[in-house]
Amino acid sequence: MSDSPYLLTPGPLTISLRTKQAMLRDWGSWDADFNRITSRIRERLLAIANAADSHECVPMQGSGTFAVEAALGTLVPRDGHVLVPQNGAYCLRIARTCRILGRRVTTIDYAEDAAVRAEDVDRALGADASITHVALVHCETSAGILNPLHAVAEVVARHGRRLIVDAMSSFGALEIDARRTPFDAVVASSGKCLEGPPGMGFVIARREALERAEGNSHSLAMDLHDQWVYMKKTTQWRFTPPTHVVAAFDCAIEQYLEEGGRVARGARYAANCRTLIDGMGNLGLRSFLPAAVQAPIIVTFHAPANPRYEFKSFYNAVKSRGYILYPGKLTTLETFRVGCMGQLGERGIGGAVDAVAAVLAEMSAAA
Ligand SMILES: *Cc1c(COP(=O)(O)O)cnc(C)c1O
Repeated sequence: MSDSPYLLTPGPLTISLRTKQAMLRDWGSWDADFNRITSRIRERLLAIANAADSHECVPMQGSGTFAVEAALGTLVPRDGHVLVPQNGAYCLRIARTCRILGRRVTTIDYAEDAAVRAEDVDRALGADASITHVALVHCETSAGILNPLHAVAEVVARHGRRLIVDAMSSFGALEIDARRTPFDAVVASSGKCLEGPPGMGFVIARREALERAEGNSHSLAMDLHDQWVYMKKTTQWRFTPPTHVVAAFDCAIEQYLEEGGRVARGARYAANCRTLIDGMGNLGLRSFLPAAVQAPIIVTFHAPANPRYEFKSFYNAVKSRGYILYPGKLTTLETFRVGCMGQLGERGIGGAVDAVAAVLAEMSAAA
């Protein structure tokens, strides 16, 4: 256990020992005890978003992308038209998914260091009445940008269109409140800010939108409406659920609530993000994004100026000190990324900064 490195990646991330231990028991997927776990998870996820009155929580097997695809394919009618304000790889993935599903899609393109602007969405919706849905990525994990969910949601609602939010790397840490922010769907997964193992996605979907979605889906397995109806009727998942992941996710949510829920989780990540940016700054490593658009989830850093720098060897040297970094995902600049999430042990994120400091010192000595 102790020799597994800390993951500074935005999912999978380092989960607690208690969460790992919750995977040691086998469950029958038809068993009432297991189905009570599923129900409790669904209720608690709805409560985190203050959405119990208006929305339903529908789980979906698979990684986060499966749940995003299920939400798009189920909630957007086949003749729908999706607007995607795009500033990174996860936005582009949504646009690509729409194309593959045969849903019309239009993008508003931004630079990789710029947040989406609600005014642009307003203008696009005003100019094109055929747009039925807007798909927004809340935290664009590619660079780590926070997009203005609430402002975009108000614009979409004012135009009478519908909003689907990929909140994969923000749900549970940043505020998403269905009573305040209108949305048809918020999609997230077990393995990000709620610090469970990967393997289960979920969609917080407006009940009325789900009810109207019967027959939209191109797919049997990815049909969110069918999953919802079946689960309502039987309390079971339609097809084999990832039982160990579900049990561990339930345990992770229990710890999330013990920690103090969304406010405490968000504060921990924000403190990690500050410590990280300050600590790396002291080592001469600059973060890529302007502070105003930096989400406290993952930070992109410019590669060290050292001519001997090469990501793979840097990565391996930091890994040998117990931390797994994440490659950069920018198209033009040489960068690497460090996540602020997960159970980072006694030394916390400071331990990661110390590991990077030691590796940079070695690199300079060898130069
Ligand atoms: C992690 C993530 C996803 C889903 O990725 P998977 O690898 O399928 O789990 C989708 N959108 C965003 C913004 C993410 O951070």
